[in-house]
Amino acid sequence: MDLSYGEEAEALRREVRAFVEEHRTQAPLGAIGLGGRPDERVRRWQALLIERGYAARNVPREYGGFGAPPDPLARIVIDEEFARAGISRGIGGQGPDMLVPTLLEHGTEEQRRRYVGPTLRGEMVWCQGYSEPEAGSDLANVRTSAVLEGDDFVVTGHKIWTTSAHFSDMMFCLVRTEPERPRHAGLSYLLIPMASAGISVQPLMTMTGKAEFNQVFFDGVRVPRASIVGERGEGWRIANATLVHERNMLGSAAQIDALFQALLRLARTETRDDRPLIEDPLVRDRLMRLQAEVLAARWHASRLLSTRLRGEPVGIAGLVVKLTGCELAHQISSTALELLGEVGALYERSPHERAGGLWVFQQMFSLGLIIGGGTAQIQKNIIGERGLGLPREARGDV
Ligand SMILES: Cc1cc2nc3c(=O)[nH]c(=O)nc-3n(C[C@H](O)[C@H](O)[C@H](O)COP(=O)(O)OP(=O)(O)OC[C@H]3O[C@@H](n4cnc5c(N)ncnc54)[C@H](O)[C@@H]3O)c2cc1C
Repeated sequence: MDLSYGEEAEALRREVRAFVEEHRTQAPLGAIGLGGRPDERVRRWQALLIERGYAARNVPREYGGFGAPPDPLARIVIDEEFARAGISRGIGGQGPDMLVPTLLEHGTEEQRRRYVGPTLRGEMVWCQGYSEPEAGSDLANVRTSAVLEGDDFVVTGHKIWTTSAHFSDMMFCLVRTEPERPRHAGLSYLLIPMASAGISVQPLMTMTGKAEFNQVFFDGVRVPRASIVGERGEGWRIANATLVHERNMLGSAAQIDALFQALLRLARTETRDDRPLIEDPLVRDRLMRLQAEVLAARWHASRLLSTRLRGEPVGIAGLVVKLTGCELAHQISSTALELLGEVGALYERSPHERAGGLWVFQQMFSLGLIIGGGTAQIQKNIIGERGLGLPREARGDV
């Protein structure tokens, strides 16, 4: 089995490595996206990455991307080099990683020209309006309604757990337009400006102590008819296309590997009885178990890569990435907290905190990612039923 990437990919690796060395001082500090809108420094970094083809690499130039033909190997090499250097890969999240590919696949020419470029450049921020109090795992139960009146849809209802809604410009939103049709066939996918009259946003605090997500209420919000992506009643299909991109984004092997490398650095630098933790046989045993899982995630990613390079669909095997990656991220950060002992729990400006409180934040945040984008249990159901051919769960609606 030949696991090398080949000379062309290695030439790209050298190019990216040189770029990273030359420009690393310009990279934004810390994670991008969760705290608020991209600032000037982030937007300048993003513009540089797009210019070099390290962000928006495969998005056509006419929509504001770099315009390279799809090449999964190049993407992996770039990800690996940025992770190795520990610097930001630019702006990601709901807009660039989820909505942009959805619009490229299903949007109108007008929608692509209007939204893709500003989203990639960090000028337009998006949130995802899927979940409702009675529609999470059972997403087809969405009740927020959109009724066509003249040239507008009038939207009324309530979304919940909407990450970043408090600083977003736009929402891609799943609404019910055909209440008389079967559940999955009655939905549509709308692009809604968050400044519209009738929208109110109420923050929800997470266990990290920050209000990362919100409730969003719609009270007769008017949205132009042309804001629909796909046709009326096609919302389920479009929403699932976005979900595939979300699950590809969450739990990537490169991110997990970078997190595990950070754990190894911690075990080498933290000491107990004046000896580095990594010299403790019990700690080494824990680390080796985790390393085995990290390697399995990497080889699984390589297997998916080979499948994509052959031009074949990865199918259900792609879901394993989100499921195992997010659970592994939680295990890695939980291990870091255990190794740190009581100082591990210090958070937010304590003089004794380690790594800026990163590990305790990561441990809490990664728990949320096991739930967001479809819970682990739901992923297991899909993998079991559609991948392994196990008997389907009883469902009342189909
Ligand atoms: C950090 C975070 C960010 C989020 N961001 C967004 C966002 O931006 N936009 C958005 O729309 N939503 C967002 N969500 C919501 C997320 O998509 C939902 O929380 C998720 O789909 C689960 O829905 P629920 O919370 O209603 O739980 P429920 O569906 O009520 O599930 C409760 C429990 O029952 C289990 N369960 C339910 N059905 C089954 C079944 N058939 N078989 C086995 N077990 C089952 C679930 O796995 C879960 O453990 C976010 C969530 C989190 C945690």
